[in-house]
Amino acid sequence: MSDDSAFSPPPFLPGTVWLVGAGPGDPGLLTLLAKHALEQADAVVYDALVDQRTLKLARPDAERLYAGKRGGKPSPSQPDISDRLVRLAREGKRVLRLKGGDPFVFGRGGEEALALVAAGVPFRIVPGVTAGIGGLAYAGIPVTHRDTNSAVTFITGHNAIGEVPDGLDWGALAKGSPVLVFYMALKHLALIRDRLLKGGRPASDPVAVVSKAATRDQRVVETTLGACVEAAAAARIEPPAIVAVGEAVRLRAGLDWLGAAEGRKLVPDPLNVKGRRAAG
Ligand code: SAH
Repeated sequence: MSDDSAFSPPPFLPGTVWLVGAGPGDPGLLTLLAKHALEQADAVVYDALVDQRTLKLARPDAERLYAGKRGGKPSPSQPDISDRLVRLAREGKRVLRLKGGDPFVFGRGGEEALALVAAGVPFRIVPGVTAGIGGLAYAGIPVTHRDTNSAVTFITGHNAIGEVPDGLDWGALAKGSPVLVFYMALKHLALIRDRLLKGGRPASDPVAVVSKAATRDQRVVETTLGACVEAAAAARIEPPAIVAVGEAVRLRAGLDWLGAAEGRKLVPDPLNVKGRRAAG
């Protein structure tokens, strides 16, 4: 690509697979490469988390194949999905594997790509906006902020067998990471809360539960670590949801730009940085 030429996407070659992140919901968060892939693909293999509005951007005559995986319901197994990608590519199709968020963030993109490597099918990875960053931004929560958090940890609330991962050092996470961002955490929220409290995280630590982020049904519950389980249940929060733990959550009082559009009054110094400076 020469420096002065306008962006032109690479060709989507028949017989190849593009593993593409669709972002958390809002089709406006697609990359130019994702849009290009949607316009070119002969077959689109998509997940439950991909927004219907995004699928509408696919070529009208493209094959649309659902490969949804939702906890508890029967769904294609991972090898079945990988086999299907290989088969479609071998049929000479341009195969778009479209995943919610980013394909390499708790999305099994690596597993699928390795299956393509094993089968000798050429592929490209197109990163997407992950829910734990972009979804929280839609709730007005920055995952890093100079005054409060210079580190952030992304954690899954589910391991391969659907349980809270226990190979983690929960005490280190509780004490060491100013912001914790949990994916797939609703089912085991009580266990996660207990492990963090046991690990030394204060019950008063702010928590946001952001459901269906960046979709028209986005809902946010602002609560605390001690109260988050009851608060999420009382609000009837549904998956998918991101759970953010840490001081950064307080910034929402100043940065809830979607709320502001509906009349929420934003406060300019939600962490009271000026007050703390004056005091100390
Ligand atoms: N690859 C995806 C994550 C897939 S794991 C990504 O990068 O975002 C599935 C989990 O992602 C869900 O359980 C939820 O925790 C989170 N998630 C995905 N989309 C979401 C959305 N729109 N709102 C809230 N959480 C979302």
